Amino acid sequence: MTKISRPSSWLQRESHRLQQSPIELFETRSLRVNDATLHVERLPERVAGVFREDNQHHPRFALTARRAQRPRITFRGMTAYLDEVHLHRPSEHDLEGDDASGEIHLVHRFDEPRHGGSSHLVLGVLFDARHASTRQRLSPKFCRTWGKAFAPRAKRVPSASPPTLALRDLLPRDERWFHYEGSLTTGDTEPYAEVVSWIVFATPLRVDARDLKHLGEATHQRERKGQALNRRLVVRNF
Ligand SMILES: [Zn+2]
Repeated sequence: MTKISRPSSWLQRESHRLQQSPIELFETRSLRVNDATLHVERLPERVAGVFREDNQHHPRFALTARRAQRPRITFRGMTAYLDEVHLHRPSEHDLEGDDASGEIHLVHRFDEPRHGGSSHLVLGVLFDARHASTRQRLSPKFCRTWGKAFAPRAKRVPSASPPTLALRDLLPRDERWFHYEGSLTTGDTEPYAEVVSWIVFATPLRVDARDLKHLGEATHQRERKGQALNRRLVVRNF
């Protein structure tokens, strides 16, 4: 009888890298589901938090309010609270084979994760500068605040009041989304841990060239390259 002589570390390493993010999203390669369980509370005009960089120099805005006072989402009977916001440029998820100019990640944590399920729910909001149209515009106020917070130190303006971020109008009014189970896309604390339920909105916001400039060069993380879908199924609500 042939003995299988793979080292056990092989199995461990490969077996937890099968549900990675980001991925490419295609309407024709996803399945339409009749799921109306996603409820995203209207985001507040401003939320309090801290702008900081993690130990890999990734700019983030971490909310400081108590959990019960944070913006919240319910999805499939579970509740998740907003934990932090960060950006990637270009976008991590590709729509119909294309990068968008960038992607905002609204990182939520489930209140009581189901056993074996994801601990995080991340909303991905793409924004794109290439198509001039009447589509909803990424909030200029958000871009200015974000750009100023992560400007080179010499250019930062000290502020007396605690930092806040304008979140209103950050979510697309077009509520069509893709959903799949995947991973974190950075390796800060738990590298690429497969703990994320992703909801990626199907319509990018429009970003003007001036706002893109406000966002600056050092305010975002790079995209991680697209990962294999493997045996997963992507669903969509449209
Ligand atoms: Zn991210």
